[in-house]
Amino acid sequence: MKLYRIKKSNIDRKGRGLYATKDIKEGTRIIDYVGKIITKKQTEKSEKFDNSKPIYLFNLNNKYDLDGDVSWNTARLINHSCINNCDYNGSGLKLWVVAIKDIKKGEELTCDYGFGYDEDYKQFICKCGSKNCCGYIVRAESRWRINKKFRMSLKKNNRINR
Ligand SMILES: [Zn+2]
Repeated sequence: MKLYRIKKSNIDRKGRGLYATKDIKEGTRIIDYVGKIITKKQTEKSEKFDNSKPIYLFNLNNKYDLDGDVSWNTARLINHSCINNCDYNGSGLKLWVVAIKDIKKGEELTCDYGFGYDEDYKQFICKCGSKNCCGYIVRAESRWRINKKFRMSLKKNNRINR
């Protein structure tokens, strides 16, 4: 049985999200984050990543990025929350989503998108509703989300106590 199912999201009311189908223990690998592996050169050249924040673009290493904006990447449906219960993790050219705390059956799975705080931040309003919500989707610390401006890279799960 899969640990998640797709449902209308409580955070993004116009969109979908992933929900835990059973209790999930901290540290559990929940779903792979898949997509097209592209070179940094392709990223730089692609108009797709020019004008908006590359929500689904990850930095894999100094040569390759992963474009997760593909229909078969179910993990792209995971919404951002200011108190996320999941995080991205990875090794080599593989990425996945891992639980960073115990998650109860029926809870929505959330990650921190880690956007930088810049002139565009007002474009992305956060509706996660958590107590510490800052109202916008921005990163909690200096991180590695991608693009020319936003680089995302792999990091261990040490961000629980923010
Ligand atoms: Zn929020």
